[in-house]
Amino acid sequence: MKLFKLLKEKAHEKVVIFGDKDLGLNAIIAIHDTTLGPALGGCRMWGYNESKNPLYAGMLDALKLSMAMTYKASAAGLDLGGGKAVIVKDPSTISEEEREKIFIRFGEFVESLNGKYITAEDVGTNVKDMANIMKSTKYVVGIPEEYGGSSDPSPVTAYGVFMGIKACLKEVFGTESLEGKIVAIEGVGNVGYNLAKYLYKEGAELIVSDIVEEKAERAAKEFNAKITKPGKIYEKKCHIFSPCALGGSLNSKTIPKLRCKIVAGAANNQLKNSKSDGERLAKKGILYAPDYVINAGGLINVSMEPAISGKPYDREKTLKKVENIYYRLLEIFKISKEKDIPTNVAADLMAEERIIRARKNS
Ligand code: NAD
Repeated sequence: MKLFKLLKEKAHEKVVIFGDKDLGLNAIIAIHDTTLGPALGGCRMWGYNESKNPLYAGMLDALKLSMAMTYKASAAGLDLGGGKAVIVKDPSTISEEEREKIFIRFGEFVESLNGKYITAEDVGTNVKDMANIMKSTKYVVGIPEEYGGSSDPSPVTAYGVFMGIKACLKEVFGTESLEGKIVAIEGVGNVGYNLAKYLYKEGAELIVSDIVEEKAERAAKEFNAKITKPGKIYEKKCHIFSPCALGGSLNSKTIPKLRCKIVAGAANNQLKNSKSDGERLAKKGILYAPDYVINAGGLINVSMEPAISGKPYDREKTLKKVENIYYRLLEIFKISKEKDIPTNVAADLMAEERIIRARKNS
């Protein structure tokens, strides 16, 4: 019953459960909204071992994440809807051989939806899995370069965040120059490291933290960054705080510590509570770049692969398209000021309005 209540609340178009007894495979594909185009969203492979009911937990994740993808695609201006797949399985419990069979079979599930859902990489899956999915369906992106794909999206995501930071600087300081600006980056992994490279090149001073010391040290060596302990980065005086680690790092404990003018980073679900933490940032006079808008570079990147664009992948054209994140953010800041609402609420409004307009015109 709880599940049906959730389905009604989040208004999904279609949710399908697939199973293969021999492979011990249980998968959920949730299609939230296809008003703007086919539902795109990664395939997550996770055991949900912490839950008493892993299948239910997986279903909840699929429902929430597919809805988030609808907003992300719409706000990015893409003609795509929101979807997500979850394979309820602990990836550490299977052999490479089993893994290959599972993803080929999963590809058959995707194929059976006739292009209504397009899959991609997510937590627990990788490029090799996408290559296996490709053996049974054409509805997959994030495939290896040798098959015409775009491969690792992180440098493109980082470029989008970099452009987003420029939009924030323009809004707050009237100039997008990074010269002498201090940026504190939480997490210098795939995206954070590439972002640091862009920022350093344009004259920013960097403060970094990472729970993996070598990653912070690499940024210190290559970009002259100052290293700070992970929990201490929130209180560093800087112009921009850039969350590039895990979700939920902006919350009732960390926001009061912030000493920045802008929050703009790559992490997904940065606000622990989207309502109260969005308001908290706004009240503190900090400009927040909504996460799913500023980190859409990865999504824009895969949308340029042949399975969606119908054309060969072109990195230069992709980066040009990613630059639109700059204008999208300025538009959101304008809505936020006009309606006197937090920027994350303005982003949701913008995304919803585009879908409503498309429904009216169809
Ligand atoms: P990653 O795992 O390569 O990097 C994350 C880094 O954060 C790691 O180096 C990790 O050690 C560090 N970290 C974890 N907890 C930390 C903490 N408490 N304090 C400081 N550092 C911590 O992941 P990524 O691909 O760089 O992605 C970063 C974030 O951006 C994630 O939230 C991801 O969901 C989001 N994102 C990534 C992409 C992409 O293209 N890779 C696209 C959109 C969104």
